[in-house]
Amino acid sequence: MSINDNFPDKNGFFGDYGGKFVPETLMYALDELETTYNKLKSSPEFIDEFYKDLSHFVGRPSPLYLAKRLSDQYGSGNIWLKREDLNHTGAHKINNTVGQILLAKHMGKKRIIAETGAGQHGVATATVAARLGLECHIYMGTEDVKRQSLNVYRIKLLGAHVHPVDSGSATLKDALNEALRDWVTNVEDTYYIIGSVTGPHPYPLIVRDFNSVVGQELITQSQALFNRNPDAIVACVGGGSNAMGAFYPFIEKEDVRLIGVEAGGIGLETGEHAAPLNDGTPGVLHGARSYLMQDEIGQVKDTKSVSAGLDYPGVGPEHSWLKDTGRAEYVAVNDNDALRAFHEVTKLEGIMPALETAHAFGYLPILMKQLGKESNVIVNVSGRGDKDINTVAQIDGIEL
Ligand SMILES: *Cc1c(COP(=O)(O)O)cnc(C)c1O
Repeated sequence: MSINDNFPDKNGFFGDYGGKFVPETLMYALDELETTYNKLKSSPEFIDEFYKDLSHFVGRPSPLYLAKRLSDQYGSGNIWLKREDLNHTGAHKINNTVGQILLAKHMGKKRIIAETGAGQHGVATATVAARLGLECHIYMGTEDVKRQSLNVYRIKLLGAHVHPVDSGSATLKDALNEALRDWVTNVEDTYYIIGSVTGPHPYPLIVRDFNSVVGQELITQSQALFNRNPDAIVACVGGGSNAMGAFYPFIEKEDVRLIGVEAGGIGLETGEHAAPLNDGTPGVLHGARSYLMQDEIGQVKDTKSVSAGLDYPGVGPEHSWLKDTGRAEYVAVNDNDALRAFHEVTKLEGIMPALETAHAFGYLPILMKQLGKESNVIVNVSGRGDKDINTVAQIDGIEL
């Protein structure tokens, strides 16, 4: 079976998932975006512009680094780290914002909006908007404004406006609601930079494509460093963009296990988590059909995770499709195991991962037991942990 041939289809569906469930006012804007993207993605000038920015502004390619002491700790094979934490602004998010701001520029849009959870996407968006001198508005839940105050201030320093959102659980889903509301109102002059492989078509496709540079580099780097494909690629899944970017170029290489790690929060069995692929059902949220945490009457449930960037009740539609086809595996790692992994990687490797990324590391104790001594596992280090130091200190009972 060729899983990703022609996917998504012309209506934006990956099997049963995806689509454009939006108010009529946005249909024109989405069509305009799709037409522009389809034209530009095959333009050599546009591709050249994008890759130049990735190398000169973002600092790509990011290294694939052998984590020697972490590998020794588990004693079964090599653990390699894809260092997205070394990108400008400290996470994979910038790959996408650098691409989408170019789309905005080509479409002549003067005003940029975005939602943010942990604040990494807000920072990455404010950064590219500053670079092009565009007005920028970031929507962020008040709960996240509190736990990610450093990123809030970074966004303001970059000249963007932060709009705290107090509705619902005051986290990422509520910020996304507000950003969509803004877009409906200001669709003429505004470009909405969505931060993950979520939202209505063509966003899941666009965000996946821009982040696929990660997986493309992994193909070359795996050959150069260990002369074959990796046995497994592990990535955390919030909306799913860092995972999709790493997975996508490997989808047809069926000897590579693709493992997405969701936020298990207090524990899957408690219902207090952010793991829709592990414990959700299909439904519509933010313009697309996908797995979702919802109650019997379709109301979106509150989520729980120590990591603001994974604290989202939905997931990108392509992941739902990869789950149903069995091409990718989805597991959950709870708060405590992610925190343990955060400390472990920091101490053993001198690399402090984001709490989101720590969930991917948190699955290694289980995964490494399944693999032989000659195996090669890649962990996608989606971001660095500086932004989370306050959260970790608080949990460890340390006053800063
Ligand atoms: C935003 C974020 C995530 C989660 O988003 P995805 O779209 O699932 O990748 C993971 N890690 C970091 C560091 C982030 O900033």
